Amino acid sequence: MTIEQLVGVVVLSVFLSMLLLEALGGHHSQRTNTWRDRGFALAGISAQTLMAGPVVALLIGLLFGKVFTGTEGALAHVAFWVAFPLVFFLQEFCHYWLHRWSHEKRWLWKLHRTHHSAPQLNALVLYRYNIFWTLLLPQTWIGAICVHLGLYEVFAAAILIEFVVNALTHTPYRWDLALRRLPGMTPVFNVLEKIITLPDTHHAHHGLGQHAHARGNYAITLFCLDMLYGTAKIPRERQERFGLPGRFDWREELFWPLVRKGAIRK
Ligand SMILES: [Zn+2]
Repeated sequence: MTIEQLVGVVVLSVFLSMLLLEALGGHHSQRTNTWRDRGFALAGISAQTLMAGPVVALLIGLLFGKVFTGTEGALAHVAFWVAFPLVFFLQEFCHYWLHRWSHEKRWLWKLHRTHHSAPQLNALVLYRYNIFWTLLLPQTWIGAICVHLGLYEVFAAAILIEFVVNALTHTPYRWDLALRRLPGMTPVFNVLEKIITLPDTHHAHHGLGQHAHARGNYAITLFCLDMLYGTAKIPRERQERFGLPGRFDWREELFWPLVRKGAIRK
């Protein structure tokens, strides 16, 4: 099994396990998750695997094949513990800024809005994207460069850590609040919540209501970036609701800027 196949198997296993656990808890009934929501997730999975992955791999292959010739496997000798922190931090740093700009800049917001129009958080929201958003994700670009340079284990570890944290922070289950209440765990979580993104802070990013924080909590994993840049809010609360006011045309949700419709119902 190649390392790319291993990543695929782990991602699929985590995703399907989450879906099953959430379905058993009643989080995927037609009332909580409509066919529209399911369709968005299916479109996002298709765009990421059938479009973004091959397109980015092709472009990186062309760039390094024509411009940076002779670089194939060039960093394969670099120790994992030297390369991994650098690559992981670079991915997190780039994603923090892409995500922050997508909330601050109007034209980027419409590429990211689809992810936020989800009325519930669950595993399907992991892939709920405008199809062009998948082309912007720094993980895909940096991952393709890592593979080209021979940093296979680094690519796998960075992608899998981010995927698992992303999965654990989009689930409706507030495991963080449950663990925090265990004896001796409150001080641990008081520190952890400032370093790593937890459901508390990511739910606040998707939330609506007094404990929400849509203009912040941007990091996938390294919440310390939000602490550093002053965009952090740690409510230690459940969110009242999720989603966005208004409802948008599904074609615009998936294909903006090719399709421009605006809000269809307030
Ligand atoms: Zn966001």
